[in-house]
Amino acid sequence: MSDRVYIFDTTLRDGEQSPGCSMNLEEKLKMARKLDLLNVDIIEAGFPIASEGDFEAVRMVAAEVENCTIAGLARAHKLDIERAAEAVKGARKPRIHTFIATSDIHLEHKLRKSRAEVLKQSAEAVKIARDLCDDVEFSAEDATRSDIGYLVEVFEAAIEQGARTINIPDTVGYALPQEFGPFVNEIISRISNKEGVVFSCHCHNDLGLGVANSLAGVENGCRQVECTINGIGERAGNAALEEIVMALRTRKDRMPYHTEVVTEEIYPASRMLTNLTGAYVQANKAIVGKNAFAHEAGIHQDGMLKKAITYEIMTPQSVGIVSSTLVLGKHSGRHALHNKFEELGYALDKEELNRAYFFFTKLADQKKEVYDEDLIAIIQDGIKLIPDTWSLKYVHSAGGNQELSTAVVKLQRGEEIRTESAFGDGPVDACCKAIDALTGQSGRLLEYSVSSVSRGKDALGEAFVHVQFNDRTYTGKAASVDVIDASARAYLNAVNKAIHEQKRLKEEA
Ligand SMILES: [Zn+2]
Repeated sequence: MSDRVYIFDTTLRDGEQSPGCSMNLEEKLKMARKLDLLNVDIIEAGFPIASEGDFEAVRMVAAEVENCTIAGLARAHKLDIERAAEAVKGARKPRIHTFIATSDIHLEHKLRKSRAEVLKQSAEAVKIARDLCDDVEFSAEDATRSDIGYLVEVFEAAIEQGARTINIPDTVGYALPQEFGPFVNEIISRISNKEGVVFSCHCHNDLGLGVANSLAGVENGCRQVECTINGIGERAGNAALEEIVMALRTRKDRMPYHTEVVTEEIYPASRMLTNLTGAYVQANKAIVGKNAFAHEAGIHQDGMLKKAITYEIMTPQSVGIVSSTLVLGKHSGRHALHNKFEELGYALDKEELNRAYFFFTKLADQKKEVYDEDLIAIIQDGIKLIPDTWSLKYVHSAGGNQELSTAVVKLQRGEEIRTESAFGDGPVDACCKAIDALTGQSGRLLEYSVSSVSRGKDALGEAFVHVQFNDRTYTGKAASVDVIDASARAYLNAVNKAIHEQKRLKEEA
């Protein structure tokens, strides 16, 4: 058996459907391009039948991504499968991923079908899919709570109809590594027609064992692992891509398998996902957490200075973290900025560099030390995919712990400049109300967070919002040394996205 492990990334499907991780079309495309650079093998881009937006996102990702296989998810129904086929057909390497539950618990309570019916439906679904696409994956939902003999039967039927990848999910995150490994092993050894089939695992993290179970799967014959950036996903999430890839790489001595992932893109991909969704990664998260490579204790620092290997099992550079030191100040020129961005993994064209430089000089005026994190925030905030219908010219907000807060906001649209004041519960709420009055939108702030993206008292604060306009939710983000300024601009960012989307929908209608 080959030692090559295929990485199936489902950040845009299983990850995206989890609370607080939704992305719009542009954001999904941006993430997909990053996954392509990361060189994952398969991108599961969405669940096309779920909504028009999902369908469109899968179609666009399929059309745009160059290297990866693009998968669309479908239940084991004809309509689902046809919709998925339609969505992925523009991909260079399309895949249909169809699934049905096989555990008695799901059969009885969810599907209300007999084992024989589900067996038949599985085979039919794969057959329909194979008529539309050469590359078909079949998953048995809740496999770990299914009867193993029945599971083998279902998998054999799916393979018989042409499924090339057989996925064994621990849907509810219940399995233990010492049971999941032998479980996978037994399934594979009992399947009679496994020639040329790739076995896969998809492990959820409800007991914090998603990665451990996935590695047990690999050791027992799985050569595809389904995972997500930062481990996002339903409930406690999926197995984290970065942990699987780095565990395989770092412990090659015990696990002689390899992936083709460009590990230096791991941290940039993690940052991008956080920036797009606002779903922050815990500081002590393995590989990509803020503290994952920080050595705080004196004795550790001493050891690190003498020789990094004393406390470091892998280097931050290997996952794309550039050492964060004081870099640029207000006297740094465009050239230095360009080089620094290049080092951070962002190749800017002339116009982008000009915009970035403009933000950089503004920031360098406000704070003495500009860190790498500040620069990344600039680039992700300053160079936008969505045109700014409205831009913020001025904001002043006053609050306290007694009365209502007030805000005065001045916005510009083209040549037009308008000012409005408003009251609110707190200065941020007052700003949002003034912005609503100026832009004619009516947003409902669902989530709001401010975090510091660099160090020191003059650190850059990054505000993140989830705002609902009518039935749709938009994220907004902005960074500034002033929290009110960042909050107002983050809110306005969401307003501009909503306006852009409303225009697009109107044009389509
Ligand atoms: Zn899942």
